[in-house]
Amino acid sequence: MMKLSFSRLDLYLQCPLKYKYRYIDKIKEKPSPYAAFGLSIHRTIQQFFTHPEGVPTIYDLYNYLEASWVREGYTSPKEEASFKENAKKMLTKFYQDNIVNYLKACTVEQYFEVHTNDFIINGYIDQVNKRGNTYEVVEYKTSKNGKSMEEAEKDLQIATYHLAFKSIYGFPPNQVIYYNVRSGVKLGIKVTPQMEEFVMQSYKDIASGILAERFHFQVGIHCHWCDYQKICPDREGVSGGQINFPF
Ligand code: SF4
Repeated sequence: MMKLSFSRLDLYLQCPLKYKYRYIDKIKEKPSPYAAFGLSIHRTIQQFFTHPEGVPTIYDLYNYLEASWVREGYTSPKEEASFKENAKKMLTKFYQDNIVNYLKACTVEQYFEVHTNDFIINGYIDQVNKRGNTYEVVEYKTSKNGKSMEEAEKDLQIATYHLAFKSIYGFPPNQVIYYNVRSGVKLGIKVTPQMEEFVMQSYKDIASGILAERFHFQVGIHCHWCDYQKICPDREGVSGGQINFPF
């Protein structure tokens, strides 16, 4: 049965041809410093919230960063050092914001599968917290562009993790927290039944697109950081005047 993750959904919605290059043709992309950075922060936070005994110190957190640091993806030692410096700053603020009411995670990086008649949605939930009788799912982000509350309420990834929690626990979480570690902003989202339907429909739509082999290119701002520009048939669109970059 076809397995679809949120990353697959997101990529297909962005550009079906890029989806084909990555997932069907399996053409490797260049490792990126942002991906390495994001992974390092995620792993560090996981260890912070599963610290074996008592409350972790700031030095424990720095040690977790050292142990979790992903080196692949940086173009020079200077670039890597600058990213690491940023990671330390970001985590220092994270520590200050989370140490007062420190609570060990219920689970981290939990695998899930949501089964439907035609496909399976799978992936990993960053973190689940249990506070008294309430459960919250946490999704960590390290990107520069944060989301407004309105955007987060319509976010397909947040709705996906809500469905994921339901499939594991049999009831919905009290909220899904969208936590931008870079800015420190946490948004608590209550996913509505309408949003559940919408996200399911989105997965159904891309599943039928993939089955029907609809892999057309979709030009946009995302082409700027697409590794497949050289082989994309819309090279003119990519390098020519069809895209208005805001920089
Ligand atoms: S360059 Fe743009 S249109 Fe071409 S595959 Fe990449 S994202 Fe799609």
